[in-house]
Amino acid sequence: MAFETLKGAHFRLALTPDGWVRNLSVQFSPDGLIQSAAEDDNPEGFAVYDNPVVPGITDLHSHAFQYAMAGLSEVRRNPIDSFWSWRDIMYFFALTLSPEDLQAIAARLYLSLLKGGYTGIVEFHYVHNDLDGTPYARREELSLGIFEAAQATGLDLTHLPVFYAHSNFGGLTPTEGQRRFIQSLDGYAEMLDSLRAPAKAAGHTLGIAPHSLRAATPEEIAKLLELRDDLIPDSPVHIHVAEQVKEVEDALAWNGRRPVEQLFDIAPVDARWCLIHATHLDDREVGMIAKSGATVGLCPMTEANLGDGIFRATDYIAQGGVFGIGSDSNIATFAAQELQQLEYSQRLRDRQRNVLAAMDTPHVAANLWNRAAQGGARASGRPEQGLAVGGMASFVEITSPEPAAMLPVDPEAALDFHVFAGRGFHIGDVVVRGKKVISDGHHPLEEKIVTDYAVAMARVAERLSARKAT
Ligand SMILES: [Zn+2]
Repeated sequence: MAFETLKGAHFRLALTPDGWVRNLSVQFSPDGLIQSAAEDDNPEGFAVYDNPVVPGITDLHSHAFQYAMAGLSEVRRNPIDSFWSWRDIMYFFALTLSPEDLQAIAARLYLSLLKGGYTGIVEFHYVHNDLDGTPYARREELSLGIFEAAQATGLDLTHLPVFYAHSNFGGLTPTEGQRRFIQSLDGYAEMLDSLRAPAKAAGHTLGIAPHSLRAATPEEIAKLLELRDDLIPDSPVHIHVAEQVKEVEDALAWNGRRPVEQLFDIAPVDARWCLIHATHLDDREVGMIAKSGATVGLCPMTEANLGDGIFRATDYIAQGGVFGIGSDSNIATFAAQELQQLEYSQRLRDRQRNVLAAMDTPHVAANLWNRAAQGGARASGRPEQGLAVGGMASFVEITSPEPAAMLPVDPEAALDFHVFAGRGFHIGDVVVRGKKVISDGHHPLEEKIVTDYAVAMARVAERLSARKAT
């Protein structure tokens, strides 16, 4: 898709790493970075943004296919429903999708994410095999569909093919329901190798992702890290860890070590790593992650939806910990919702207000937004993000749903309104790496993407009811 390329922009009010700045002109390099920034009266005549502008956030954790099952698991079917009963529904759903369905779902999701304040995505992709569990003729078939979806929508993609081999700690045999996810190390290596050329041609970043310590053994994780050094050195490494209490209990039962302890025992966790969820941590683990420079990938809406627990954000940030946000199961597609939920989880636990602000950034929304933008960039293997020299030319215009939606006393409170007032989910233009992909709330391929998705959903509904009937 050919999008309009901007040489620069002039912002009346922009959120920079140093806070809000008025009358900021930024010039973009051909590779989509900010190469100069100055407070001036727009001598170059760049496109002018009168509404507040904030840096785009990279959604650092998504399983695209789950977007289509949102709303289907909110019915109690057991005396106690949990993450594990939700997972059974998710497996059933994953066993229904064709490559065309998956691509249509990913494109529809990515369109929503662009309109939700995100300019990048890290796709944690674990559906690899055909319905019966055999690899496709091209092992990377489903990954290539994700590439197509990212290219059509203009969302900046970091793609993580996931290694998934076991059903629990100790290398247990996978279940029948996991057959579309399972790969051998050799199969994985072949797929990663095949993805390199198309990723490079399209400007996507590749990384690796052992699914979890449940699904990959320490020996396999060591091999995956060697493979990464050979094929895609210095690229991101993501892993699910300590999302559920049961996972911590299973880890302890297996070798007497908690999941995060186990991870630090077996791997050189550093700033290239992203630990997804890390919900259940003891004091020592909070310090270990914060000190390592790794990013914690928080998915507050999904974690709330699945009843995971509350991340220790105040302790972690106090120790200098880096975090970003992910949409994970894609029940929510607005960055603002994720940040709101993150702050509210801490408020409910601590019975305080404005918890995740900083002394130099008292506005909670601005503090969370900037931190999430920077953490997302780090976790996706991109340059540091922020509206300043060296940052990505990726930004989002916040518009008002109506002329006086917010009491017009403090323009800098627009982001607070957007994140906390619930009436403010309005995005105007979205620019990704210097390319305008959303113009005044509209994407050029919007109608086609929505129609393709509807066609795919009709197919999926038919297949689901046929399977339920058997
Ligand atoms: Zn996940």
